[in-house]
Amino acid sequence: MTKNASSRKLSVIEPQRESHQVKNSAAGDSPLKSLNRQFDLAADIVGLEPDLRELLKAPYRELHVQIPVKMDSGRLEIFHGYRIQHNAVRGPYKGGIRYHQDVDRDEVLALATLMSWKTAVVDIPFGGAKGGVCVDPQKLSKRELQALTRGFISKIDLIIGPHRDIPAPDVNTDEKIMAWMMDEYGKKHGYCPGIVTGKPVALGGSLGRKEATGRGVVFTIVEAAKHLKLELKNATAVVQGFGNVGSHAALFLHELGVKVIGVTDVSGGFYDKKGLNIPELIEHSTKYKTLSGYVKADSLSNDEALRTACDILVPAALGGVFTAEVAREVECKLIAEGANNPSTVEADEIFEKKGILVIPDILCNAGGVTVSYFEWAQNLQQYRWDVDKVNEELEKIMTRAFSEVHKIATEKKISLRTAAFVLAIERCATATRLRVL
Ligand code: NAD
Repeated sequence: MTKNASSRKLSVIEPQRESHQVKNSAAGDSPLKSLNRQFDLAADIVGLEPDLRELLKAPYRELHVQIPVKMDSGRLEIFHGYRIQHNAVRGPYKGGIRYHQDVDRDEVLALATLMSWKTAVVDIPFGGAKGGVCVDPQKLSKRELQALTRGFISKIDLIIGPHRDIPAPDVNTDEKIMAWMMDEYGKKHGYCPGIVTGKPVALGGSLGRKEATGRGVVFTIVEAAKHLKLELKNATAVVQGFGNVGSHAALFLHELGVKVIGVTDVSGGFYDKKGLNIPELIEHSTKYKTLSGYVKADSLSNDEALRTACDILVPAALGGVFTAEVAREVECKLIAEGANNPSTVEADEIFEKKGILVIPDILCNAGGVTVSYFEWAQNLQQYRWDVDKVNEELEKIMTRAFSEVHKIATEKKISLRTAAFVLAIERCATATRLRVL
């Protein structure tokens, strides 16, 4: 997945190209193609009319901007940013902003599309959007990062708004970056905390938002374990990615008595068959911004992590990690997709044949956008919920969504992923018929 970031930063990106090719599939599908194959599979089951099928798959609006930043060296560097609004038939566009050297139009469009289905699966009143800037933020100073963030928001300002499109954090963007975004938007529009979610609590962020995606992942694991008759107390888990989603998922699994035997981040990771000390690893990774340097366990590479025998495997880093080749070597009972788009269609077929239950991303990691919805609702009401209310409401929504998806999967004898798509398509199609047809 490595690409030459510096050569791409200044390149002009053609709107319709199939970018960066084999990022998500051994068969050569782009993430978007892969996703739309999953959509079509479910649309066939629903019997969706051809015109609605096209309408629901196509994005509403795509914005590609240049962001000039004066670097500390005095040089002007131009970064490329995207905000893609996929569908807003059920509510304002909603989706995170990613800073990564692999960001391109195709990836952002796939992630925007995924958000429309995700918000529909958990039945919250939002549509789907995504943003991204092609940059390796590790290479920027704090001043450069702030300038880039403010520059990006000032360029996409005309299409976002608290009732139009509400960004949030994603890979390499955090609450500090959300605070800069809110501040920049406020310069033109006045005080407006509802313009982004995932803000610091002191600025109107919701209690429980930081942990929400990982917590939601674990709520769905608890439900799936009941169906698998998997005793979580004696179960083992491996988590790939130790950022916001991965570290919280690992912590909540650890608190339930699951032995988390492997964790990795971009630097590699660690293995202990007796179970790792997750709170200590979180302390280490918070202090040093990497897992690297921890000395109390054996080392584990990212490749090994996905192939480690365990009960529960949680991909919580980037997309496209389960190619067919990797899938053949996966040895677990349950995959909980904390990351967006981690499995190719071919990998999914292999998991099904192997009897591995997959909790799909559009259900599994929807806890983040669900608490973003709570944050937005609190901002609009100028009111604050306590953390117990946030977590209780989150649990209600995640367990209800799991049970609705599981029911469809059982009745129609289809995978949880196809069932989640069926549910999402039915909800979006109903709203579209009511609004526009
Ligand atoms: P993050 O930036 O906080 O963490 C990303 C983690 O992945 C880091 O530990 C990083 O070291 C690791 N990583 C990066 N590249 C890697 C590689 N090549 N191999 C192994 N590990 C690698 O990001 P996050 O917010 O935790 O997001 C992780 C995933 O979850 C993404 O797919 C994101 O789209 C998805 N997601 C996030 C949220 C959210 O609320 N943050 C919600 C839903 C889905």
